[in-house]
Amino acid sequence: MMITSKELAQAVSKRRTFAIISHPDAGKTTITEQLLLFGGVVREAGTVKGRGSSNFAKSDWMEIEQKRGISVTSSVMQFDYDGKRINILDTPGHEDFSEDTYRTLMAVDSAVMVIDGAKGIEPQTRKLFQICKMRGIPIFTFINKFDRDAREPLDLMNEIEETLGIETYPMDWPIGMGRQFLGVYDRFNKRVALTHPADPDQPYLPLGDDGMVAGDNPIAGEGEWQDTLDGIELIEMAGTEFDEAKIAAGDQTPVFFGSALTNFGVKTFLETYLKFAPAPSPHKQDDGTAVEPLAPEFSGFVFKIQANMNPKHRDRIAFVRICSGEFIRGMDVTLERTGKPLRLSNVTEFMANTRENVETAVAGDIIGLYDTGNFQIGDSIYTGKQAVKFEKLPQFTPELFVRVSAKNVMKQKSFHKGITQLVQEGAVQLYQSYTTNDYILGAVGQLQFEVFKFRMQNEYNSEVIMEPLGSKTARWIDLEQLDPKMASSRNMLVKDRNGDPLFLFENQFAENWFKQKYPDVKLTAKL
Ligand code: GDP
Repeated sequence: MMITSKELAQAVSKRRTFAIISHPDAGKTTITEQLLLFGGVVREAGTVKGRGSSNFAKSDWMEIEQKRGISVTSSVMQFDYDGKRINILDTPGHEDFSEDTYRTLMAVDSAVMVIDGAKGIEPQTRKLFQICKMRGIPIFTFINKFDRDAREPLDLMNEIEETLGIETYPMDWPIGMGRQFLGVYDRFNKRVALTHPADPDQPYLPLGDDGMVAGDNPIAGEGEWQDTLDGIELIEMAGTEFDEAKIAAGDQTPVFFGSALTNFGVKTFLETYLKFAPAPSPHKQDDGTAVEPLAPEFSGFVFKIQANMNPKHRDRIAFVRICSGEFIRGMDVTLERTGKPLRLSNVTEFMANTRENVETAVAGDIIGLYDTGNFQIGDSIYTGKQAVKFEKLPQFTPELFVRVSAKNVMKQKSFHKGITQLVQEGAVQLYQSYTTNDYILGAVGQLQFEVFKFRMQNEYNSEVIMEPLGSKTARWIDLEQLDPKMASSRNMLVKDRNGDPLFLFENQFAENWFKQKYPDVKLTAKL
């Protein structure tokens, strides 16, 4: 069924597609659970990761899966709230950290940054933030765990501004913390929200024009309340204006405080977020032009390929962000890289809490295509005569390296085949030693190596030996300036897939030493 252009416009305008970025343990899972709870997708919190024995969410999903004949994964979660269709894309921050995580951020229209109130900005948050910043997408901040002792809110604001270089606009301000976390002063909604209201149905105290509680204020006598008023005065004096244009450009982040574990502040966050989060925006093509989400022809790009989602079938799923038009099951598209036609019949969509719309996916949504080896990361697909080629997805400079070889020297053929295909897919990056031609793999996270090893064994019947080389800094060097004698055990000389030479420096010290020794040699980092 084709939808009209008016229906398409309506459907697209409802889409909100985002990722949560955070350092492990900041509370991403807990917040996601709360959001799914509000969206009616799960009935009980504490179930997304399958914790505990009463595993409601899991069985719900399996039921949905059977009924609809679709497969559900936690990589993308879709639900409806407040008239919006929300797609949350998972960005594993944990041991699963990999390039997929970065590339997923290419497929969202905004990001939610979750920060642990006691820890502030942590390394993974910073890395992920930088990708969002580079894309200029809006970033909304939730500072979590205020039910525990946290850092002073002003201190946290300063840290965000200084270490990330983004202006903050506190949408609310905490009243106390830890056991004395009494609530938040909600500047934006002009109310005080209490963590422990006398009447649970009345959690809010409206604020008057003077910024004071209009009626009775049960916490007026508390020292925390006075501190909050002082804090509010300070931030008002600082004079940052709430600026929608800056937010849209990723130059200002609205900041919220709360406690996901006690479900305080998450709903206000979601509702306010949905007011300002952008609907699907145009996507850039390779030639600099953009594809509008309301363009009538379908287009999208593969941002992630996940293998072995179901261990029983050796399946791979290519995740596609739809950038324009409508997806219809069974439609024929062109794969830009090869120019060949493909039929999209074996497709997975992601759970929604309403049944009616399952068949419709439009710009902003994510679909999963069962892949038998057709797709590579970064591939564009489209309908219509006009070819669509989206901007290249960034490759990230690997930080971890291993030397890899086939365990059984008699099986070189499957070893080479496996390496070639997995590298094409973008699973890991391949280098070769400049002199010995040994294979060296680079990745941004350890998991990529483990997946590589597993897949080599399972899909190519090739057992590999990996010798860890540890973390290195990759720096490219001009061929003209290269003298192989410059290499040492502390700066290995290798070549990349294109044959371009680079050094893998053991650490900053080794790099500085090199720069002093060869001041005229230009070293470049590639992002
Ligand atoms: P993730 O690694 O970012 O997904 O973090 P999780 O959501 O799994 O949370 C990590 C730990 O912090 C878990 O033990 C949570 O129960 C706990 N946690 C999450 N949010 C809060 C919060 O608001 N307050 C407190 N005290 N603990 C929290």
